[in-house]
Amino acid sequence: DRLISASARAEDLETDFSLRPRRLEEYIGQEKVKETISIFIQAARERGEVLDHVLLFGPPGLGKTTLANIIACEMGVSIRTTSGPAIERPGDLAAILTNLARGDVLFIDEVHRLSRTVEEVLYPAMEDYALDIVIGKGPGARSLRLDLPRFTLVGATTRAGLLTSPLRDRFGVISRLEYYRPEELVQVITRTAGILGVEITREGSLEIAGRSRGTPRVANRLLKRVRDYAQVRAGGVITLEVAAEALRFFEVDPLGLDNSDRNLLLTIIKKFEGGPVGLDTLAAATSEEADTLEDVYEPYLIQLGMLARTPRGRVATQLAYKHLGLESKPTPKQ
Ligand code: ADP
Repeated sequence: DRLISASARAEDLETDFSLRPRRLEEYIGQEKVKETISIFIQAARERGEVLDHVLLFGPPGLGKTTLANIIACEMGVSIRTTSGPAIERPGDLAAILTNLARGDVLFIDEVHRLSRTVEEVLYPAMEDYALDIVIGKGPGARSLRLDLPRFTLVGATTRAGLLTSPLRDRFGVISRLEYYRPEELVQVITRTAGILGVEITREGSLEIAGRSRGTPRVANRLLKRVRDYAQVRAGGVITLEVAAEALRFFEVDPLGLDNSDRNLLLTIIKKFEGGPVGLDTLAAATSEEADTLEDVYEPYLIQLGMLARTPRGRVATQLAYKHLGLESKPTPKQ
């Protein structure tokens, strides 16, 4: 459970609701995605039709749930939120689907984690707005088709490649969310500071933005922590100095790495001479699950160019040596 984690933590839940933009025009960044979705919404509205299914993919904390809520709001419909692992049996999905009203948004987070049997119920629901129910067992079993109201499925996943192709093919729009640029995160931070009533300078926001790993969720969380620090130690206003001092105190470095990130890089460098080292070996050496390394630690380090995945394993790059203040990697002898 890390301060810079991109997934929701307990402390986010109390403010998540008030900090979420409600309308598309309030949603910062992701210009391409916003444009696509707004055209799509306008077209459906003008024709009085239900919006086609939307798949959003991208790393956690970038605003997929927010966007699903905005889509419902812009279409003037209700939203029902659930997640892949929460729908355990086909009957659970059937219960949700039969309770939707025409046009409603059904948001399924982690849609790649639906079980096979549940997914099979979803296909006719998405395509024909129908539910196929089998009554009875054995030779007397009959299949019954139940009509469903037209609805919009908004699915979210970290990588589109995790979906089975029959599921992926049933989405009309597939949009990829990108990491935010510091300038966009400054806008997120400024907006949040306004809502929370926090005084912050532009340089202060930029300092927090630079350490937020391209992720609005992290930016908002760091802002809240820095606000506490500023209030207790520095008279309340978040300036560049206060932000830098607070984040040093919370051990989030200028690129947004925390101790766990630094330990991972140090392990590769000190124990494995900079790599390559296999994922499982690395997992054992850092006492982490291989999946956690791959899904949680690596994406940002790779994005920064400090870690490389090679066919022979993970490698710490020169940039990692430099960032950790170590002598550069010896070039391998031929
Ligand atoms: P995801 O579903 O991708 O994990 P969320 O939609 O839960 O991400 O976003 C996390 C938080 O970040 C939200 O509570 C919201 O306050 C903020 N956020 C995300 N995207 C934006 C955005 N484009 N503009 C402003 N705030 C955003």
